[in-house]
Amino acid sequence: MPVLTPEPLQIVEPFRGRNDTRRNLVGLSRDALKATLAEAGLEPFRARQVWQWIYWHGVTDFGLMTNIAKKTQGRLAELFVIERPQIVTEQRSVDGTRKWLLRFPDGNEAETVNIPEEDRGSVCISSQVGCTLTCSFCHTGTQPLVRNLTPDEIVGQFMVARDSYGEWPTPTETTRMLSNIVMMGMGEPLYNFDNVATALKIVMDEQGIALSRRRITLSTSGVVPMIPKVGEVLDVNLAVSLHAVNDEVRDTLVPINRKWPIKELLKACAAYPGARNSRRITFEYAMLKGVNDSDADARELVRILTPIHAKVNLIPFNPWPGAPYECSSNNRIHRFAEIVNDGGLSAPVRTPRGRDISAACGQLKSESVRAKGQRVRL
Ligand code: SAH
Ligand code: SF4
Repeated sequence: MPVLTPEPLQIVEPFRGRNDTRRNLVGLSRDALKATLAEAGLEPFRARQVWQWIYWHGVTDFGLMTNIAKKTQGRLAELFVIERPQIVTEQRSVDGTRKWLLRFPDGNEAETVNIPEEDRGSVCISSQVGCTLTCSFCHTGTQPLVRNLTPDEIVGQFMVARDSYGEWPTPTETTRMLSNIVMMGMGEPLYNFDNVATALKIVMDEQGIALSRRRITLSTSGVVPMIPKVGEVLDVNLAVSLHAVNDEVRDTLVPINRKWPIKELLKACAAYPGARNSRRITFEYAMLKGVNDSDADARELVRILTPIHAKVNLIPFNPWPGAPYECSSNNRIHRFAEIVNDGGLSAPVRTPRGRDISAACGQLKSESVRAKGQRVRL
């Protein structure tokens, strides 16, 4: 029985020293792993074996790779490491939600959350330290972008979660506790698409972590030109942070709307592969008292989303220190949901999870700041 500890557990272990220049094998695509091992004189079939040890068995020690000769194991250990982000703290909510503050080799930090349910668990993964954008109701949005996370740092978040639940080797799809990934942590994944795509392809590989694309949801604030690419390259479930039904309000909540307004966003959504079939796009809608929660807003939401195969996720606003909004009342949220449901769209109200440890939607943040003068490449 795990101890319930809203108080952070400090469990930092030091990274390997600065002079240790060995390369981390986590986060390399299959082809890159093959090429990297080839440079070290290893045959292509070794890459397949190493891949399975890293992502199917979850090992971090070459010495455990029993189908690889001792001498080759030694050579691998001289040149490479298999490394996850460091856990700075782990917090456990009274509702079972776990949050990890993770540190990367350069000292920057980001948060990862697991939200367990009866028969599944959704790991909420960050794509950036801070965020490129500044949505006014989002805590992460108050932390300017420090940098994009690299593929190893993105896959590594899921691997840390699996370590924490002891979920290695990869269990069958029906028995695993960590069954889903939502790219809904810190950052805007479509401003870091290449790294996110490399990471998610690793996660989807059947000889490794083996999470099917149907169990992965990528959420975007609406980087319209990148939406077709998500369909083409990853074809995972798409979620869109809509939060308002007209441009005037959305401009203030999700400032990227000034660049790509609602009409263009919905056009890109309508063209998303699978949106016309059984797979619906999720539109996230944070309920903000007196801002976007009227009956008229609900009716307008139905009107604009009806042409798209959509479902709506109503998120009671999660407060954070200094937030300029309040959550709509329960009655208001349920009346709003009723109108949207009556209009023919499914509109479940998301139960806030992990609020006691600031792990709920939009509450994630880390202390990392951009070094003075450091330029951010977008
Ligand atoms: N940057 C991406 C991924 C983050 S997902 C995006 O914006 O889609 C996190 C979700 O929680 C988004 O839908 C976001 O708009 C929403 N959110 C942010 N702050 C929130 C808050 N305080 N309360 C409820 N939802 C919030
Ligand atoms: Fe960034 Fe998403 Fe928060 Fe907006 S809602 S600031 S895009 S993390």
